[in-house]
Amino acid sequence: MNAKGVAYENVPVCDLCGSTSAKVSFADARDNALLIPGRFGIVRCGSCGLLRLSPRPARESLGMYYPENYVPYREDSFLLHAVKRFLSAGERRRIKNLTGGRGRVLDIGCARGDFLASLGTSYERFGLEMDAPSAAAARETGATVYAGDVETFTFQSGATFDCIVMRFVLEHLRSPMAVLKKLKTILSSGGSLVISIPNADSFERHIFGRYWHSFDVPRHFQIFSPATIRKYAEKAEFRVEKIYYSFVPNDWIGSISRFFNAHGWTRLARFFGITNLLLAALFFPLSFVGFLLHRSPRMTVILRAVERSRF
Ligand SMILES: [Zn+2]
Repeated sequence: MNAKGVAYENVPVCDLCGSTSAKVSFADARDNALLIPGRFGIVRCGSCGLLRLSPRPARESLGMYYPENYVPYREDSFLLHAVKRFLSAGERRRIKNLTGGRGRVLDIGCARGDFLASLGTSYERFGLEMDAPSAAAARETGATVYAGDVETFTFQSGATFDCIVMRFVLEHLRSPMAVLKKLKTILSSGGSLVISIPNADSFERHIFGRYWHSFDVPRHFQIFSPATIRKYAEKAEFRVEKIYYSFVPNDWIGSISRFFNAHGWTRLARFFGITNLLLAALFFPLSFVGFLLHRSPRMTVILRAVERSRF
């Protein structure tokens, strides 16, 4: 532990391919969103190209980087809630196409349950959320919500789900590989896994570098590209059915905010909040170009379990 009370851990081995070869992309990477102290590094695996945070916060220091004002745990304003609901219409349609609009759906990292609520009551809805107050709020939607961390949570023996949704969770995990393998065991036959993650191949990542919103140091431990998520899928015995790209302009706004924060211009940084709908409208044309060229900073990957032959 250092003088400021942050416990670090180095991550010498790539979670995806097991290689120890790595090149430092950014040393001295910091939390430019919440300005919580700590100095981290972003490294690229020399073998598969996966980006990972190393050093990263050790387990005992992780809580300080998820304070009460961490955005996903906050209740949205009426207008923002309506906009998010409008923007997630595509996700709901995909889930409906995958499931026929019924069955058991599990939302991992469901926060306050807004997405579960938006799915409607034709599904049997389940959630898993590590933040206890958010889990309690999510239960108000009528879904069955467990409080826990997907990396350590033990699912009920024999429980299976027709569709498992993980929206911007995989990048926060210590071992996405272990979790993907675990989820395969609770997916029903023919079920699907719908994961939304940042995209390391995005224009925004290349333009903003260390200030890129979706590096979100030190909360994101692994950053995927279409190529590395395909390798993850293959190793965990999933098949990538489709990758969808997002047109949401959050990463333009959030990256500019982080740049300002890093240079001490905190008032400007606050103005560039990702919930500023006026800015969202302004940056929409730029993000739409990334969407058209499949270089947007967020993607949703549909995975199906590869069924093993019994013979
Ligand atoms: Zn690797």
